[in-house]
Amino acid sequence: APLTIAIDGPSGSGKSSVSRAVARALGVGFLDTGAMYRALTWWCLERDIDLTDADAVAAAARDLPLTVGTDPDAPTVSVDGTDISQAIRTTRVSTSVSAVATNLQVRAELQQRQRDLMAQIAQETGGVVAEGRDITTVVAPDASVRVLLTASEEARLRRRSTELHGSTDAAAVEATRDQVVRRDRDDSTVSTFTEAAPGVVLVDTSDLDFDQSVAAVLAVVTA
Ligand code: C5P
Repeated sequence: APLTIAIDGPSGSGKSSVSRAVARALGVGFLDTGAMYRALTWWCLERDIDLTDADAVAAAARDLPLTVGTDPDAPTVSVDGTDISQAIRTTRVSTSVSAVATNLQVRAELQQRQRDLMAQIAQETGGVVAEGRDITTVVAPDASVRVLLTASEEARLRRRSTELHGSTDAAAVEATRDQVVRRDRDDSTVSTFTEAAPGVVLVDTSDLDFDQSVAAVLAVVTA
């Protein structure tokens, strides 16, 4: 049977880069589910769809002409043939994505697409690593391996600050704190990550560097 690996965690847990490295090490495809919520958010902003209009956003989710690349070395996202891999990482999208992701009709639509994509990737590459917020619990509770990656708030802030500002000096960390803490709060109806669900292995990366985090997840896979 194909190896299906589900990895959840909050922003700054190292989830995205660690998941990609795990997929690379195992030679299987990769699915970034957060990128799908971001792509829908970008599309709604482009089309001036009111993010508080739940039915309008849900209709956009159903119609979204979304394609995702599943190569862990080059995870791309396109809508209607336009590559938006960079555009979905802007602050504008980051600050609006929770409003879209808490829409239950949107979640149902994207979760189903994610299940279909996981099956397709697993069939094509012999396995899949999917990462997000609800993969271990809702999208793929039957995955071969399920991991919750966590890290202390300080560690997450440091990592995000390096990503966003290329620095961990006090000013950069403070500028990052706003975004990270706000998104944690805005996402709290979707996931809180205060504990791992039954059967999900908790990996705390607070004191691990990148290579150690990858090794820790691979150890769960081969256990
Ligand atoms: O992982 P990333 O930070 O790019 O995810 C962006 C946003 O998408 C999250 O803040 C959350 O609102 C939403 N998301 C979600 N469920 C997932 C993945 C992401 O609600 N499985």
